[in-house]
Amino acid sequence: MNFELNNFELTARLKAVLFDMDGVLFDSMPNHAYAWSHAMTDFGLRMEPEEVYMNEGRTGNGTINLLAQRFWGRDATDGEVQQIYETKSRIFNSLPEPQPMAGAMDLLKKVRTQGLMRVIVTGSATHALLDRLNAAFPDLFTPELMVTAFDVHQGKPNPEPYLMGLKKANISASEAIVVENAPLGVQAARAAGIFTIAVNTGPLKDEVLKEAGADLVLPSMQYLADNWEQVYNNHK
Ligand code: MG
Repeated sequence: MNFELNNFELTARLKAVLFDMDGVLFDSMPNHAYAWSHAMTDFGLRMEPEEVYMNEGRTGNGTINLLAQRFWGRDATDGEVQQIYETKSRIFNSLPEPQPMAGAMDLLKKVRTQGLMRVIVTGSATHALLDRLNAAFPDLFTPELMVTAFDVHQGKPNPEPYLMGLKKANISASEAIVVENAPLGVQAARAAGIFTIAVNTGPLKDEVLKEAGADLVLPSMQYLADNWEQVYNNHK
């Protein structure tokens, strides 16, 4: 019996839950999929909605060049990137505003009641992010515990966004749990060494999230909220 190891495990306490945003806290991925595929079509590129889900988390630049390479055999110019991204944003903004994900509020309240920090780790580059979060989830997030595209050099699947989240919360990887929905986001979180729960809120198969490295794949945010105590007790 290794008492040292046991003691270590007993004192390793969960301190924070790191939340991705799109497809986790907001039901926004159908709009992103629609906007990306229609914007690409406008420029003679073809992107199926499922491919948007597979590449969720990539920067706009990275997503556009993925398609440009496939269809044009070259990277898009800066001008093309700007035009396509503006078109995507215009279509996205014309769609009905994404609603909070069912179950997200229940889970956030449970996490707050347990005294755990709530950290946002998103590849999104929206300046009004905190306003949106506060409108949907009042008093649950603070600007100090948010990582957005403005905070990092490398987006998901690079671990930098999640490492930055740990740094902002001043905790180690073993003191956190990540909630993600996208394969690249799961890869990023696992590369940062954090226990990662994938909630499969989109059309991808569970296997895709498992292969990305998810420690646990659950069917929805509501399911995670309803079963949070079990996850917490296994991890605290
Ligand atoms: Mg997401």
